Amino acid sequence: MEPTGMTRRDLLACAGATIALPSLVAEAAKETAHPEGAEEALARLKEGNRRFAQGNTVHAHQSADWRKHLVGGQKPFATILGCSDSRVPVELVFDQGFGDLFIARVAGNVITTDVVGSLEYAVAHLSTSLIVVLGHQGCGAVTAAVQALNGPTRELPGIKKLVDLIEPGIPEAQPGHTHEQRIDAAVEANVRFSLKQLAQQPDVNAIIAAKKVQLVGAVYELNTGNVRFLDD
Ligand SMILES: [Zn+2]
Repeated sequence: MEPTGMTRRDLLACAGATIALPSLVAEAAKETAHPEGAEEALARLKEGNRRFAQGNTVHAHQSADWRKHLVGGQKPFATILGCSDSRVPVELVFDQGFGDLFIARVAGNVITTDVVGSLEYAVAHLSTSLIVVLGHQGCGAVTAAVQALNGPTRELPGIKKLVDLIEPGIPEAQPGHTHEQRIDAAVEANVRFSLKQLAQQPDVNAIIAAKKVQLVGAVYELNTGNVRFLDD
């Protein structure tokens, strides 16, 4: 039996055979079976975020017993590229726990060689069927890119390189938009830009097609706690 692919029924069966610890059964009971395929994975993320935003989190898969149960392997159901921002802790935002999500976090959720490698690993070796690029309201990296487009800024070289990666995806300023609206539009455009770059990587594209992986964009709203999936 694959430890990380256990369904609730598996665990209940184990409990009947006095193998599983009672707390493991309780953990599993908080969630239904491991999502199969991109649609189920997406639905699981949406349900989790709804619970989080409404203050009804269940904190499944967060006990010490569940942690130990994962020592032998992992089978996360989704891969997420998020921002480093301290206000967007991905597992919390989706009400998930240990072993549920494979996450790469980098300021501005930009596409770099290392990020591509991490995402490829998740799809090729862990068989996650969903990749989400998750931007967020008020992103500092995106804001820095917008400011850099408005004129020279003084940043450390590493930050400058990061901002340079974001700039090409920032749209023109729209007449009448407030600064906040400008940043909101830039955040969403930056998510789409990362998705586009991912889709343009031949190796990523091939593995996405072969493994029937879905690539989706989303934006997390700091004020409501909602994750808005793009193209919904
Ligand atoms: Zn950010």
